[in-house]
Amino acid sequence: MRPVETEIARHDWKSMLCGCGDSAEHIARDLLRLADRGSRQEPSHVSLEGHVWSPVVLWEPAPAVTSVVLAALADDVAPTARGWLLDLLQCMVTGEGTDSESARRGLDLPELCKDLAVQSLWLLHKEVMSNRAPGAAGAAFEILTVVEPDRARLRRVRKIAADWLPVCCRTGLCDDDA
Ligand SMILES: [Zn+2]
Ligand SMILES: [Zn+2]
Repeated sequence: MRPVETEIARHDWKSMLCGCGDSAEHIARDLLRLADRGSRQEPSHVSLEGHVWSPVVLWEPAPAVTSVVLAALADDVAPTARGWLLDLLQCMVTGEGTDSESARRGLDLPELCKDLAVQSLWLLHKEVMSNRAPGAAGAAFEILTVVEPDRARLRRVRKIAADWLPVCCRTGLCDDDA
């Protein structure tokens, strides 16, 4: 079993409420397709907008999705899938709010997702430095601008990776705290 499959199996998706109003059971399948290593078929893109995230809120499965994405990034995934996973992770850590049902239970979903990403800080640094998939270094850097507590370290990374980071990252345009 791959780490990403172990991580997917660890969560009780059926008991979570998806943004589409259904149970989050389908999210487990979507994530598996997204992170497929492509032994038999290419990984296929699945949008989780309206299910896990929207421009205004995150829904209940968001922290579980964040854990799965981090497990997938630590594993060997196709470069295209790596880009999609980082885009999804970026939606999780930049979430603006929590759906009302989860908020009533006292959950702050964007905070929970950020806490999970902080635990995988070095994985994100590695993604910036290795520049191994199209768009991956920039997306990982933009995630770091949200979750890296050490701003001096972030500035150093910006300088070292300047040659391959997109211009918004190089100039600090995409960093609210720069
Ligand atoms: Zn759904
Ligand atoms: Zn940027």
